[in-house]
Amino acid sequence: MIRLSNLYFRYREGEFSLRIPDLAVERGETVAVIGPSGSGKTTLLHLVAGIAVPLAGRVVMNDVEVTQLGDGARRDFRISNIGLVFQEFELLEYLSVLDNILLPYRINPSLRLDPIVRDRAVDLAHLVDIKDKLGRLANQLSHGEKQRVAVCRALLPEPSLLMADEPTGNLDPTNKGRVLDILFEYAEKNNTTMLTVTHDHDLLSRFDRVIDFKDFHELAGGDTASPELPLDHAKEAR
Ligand code: ADP
Ligand code: MG
Repeated sequence: MIRLSNLYFRYREGEFSLRIPDLAVERGETVAVIGPSGSGKTTLLHLVAGIAVPLAGRVVMNDVEVTQLGDGARRDFRISNIGLVFQEFELLEYLSVLDNILLPYRINPSLRLDPIVRDRAVDLAHLVDIKDKLGRLANQLSHGEKQRVAVCRALLPEPSLLMADEPTGNLDPTNKGRVLDILFEYAEKNNTTMLTVTHDHDLLSRFDRVIDFKDFHELAGGDTASPELPLDHAKEAR
């Protein structure tokens, strides 16, 4: 489903670099990504989504080599196949909540906005309890409300890969459980692969697997001859 191989990435500015010899995530797997702030968790999500482009190596998703696509094709592929809840949400502040949720359909010609999609958008808003705010501008929402709008927007195109960057980071316990339930329910129902960055260690047992960036960096800095990453902490944590 997702395979990263011999990947090397560096930002144009600064010292940070990331080396991923081999990382595979199967269809339907739910994976938590943990690690200290600044260790590259968001960068990993952006590499998988094709927002960041590696200097070397390959990203393959659903049998498509994303790293071979041009900028436009990569963007269309992402919007059609990947739902991403950004760490900073990336809502368009001067659009309404509904228009923010519908955004993937407005910017990608391969997605057709019809009444069924609109109904689905309203249903999603209902599910995360923001239906009464559909007409409100995004810049008039609380942090937690913005986060839930971002979740609806990510789910609307029914992506085969769902990625969320600290999706529960700013939520109270009730909404935290609710947002996570929605993500997991969606993933289970659609056999969706899910990659979620989280700092909530008490949530890890819900995932099939945990990728810990701490181990990853030790490995990357040491014996890079070993192709497999020691990623499997979830079962020990249970
Ligand atoms: P995390 O999500 O684990 O907190 P990030 O992936 O956001 O970490 O960032 C990893 C490192 O890359 C950090 O040191 C950060 O400062 C750096 N970084 C992030 N974005 C950029 C950028 N656009 N240009 C240069 N450096 C960046
Ligand atoms: Mg981050």
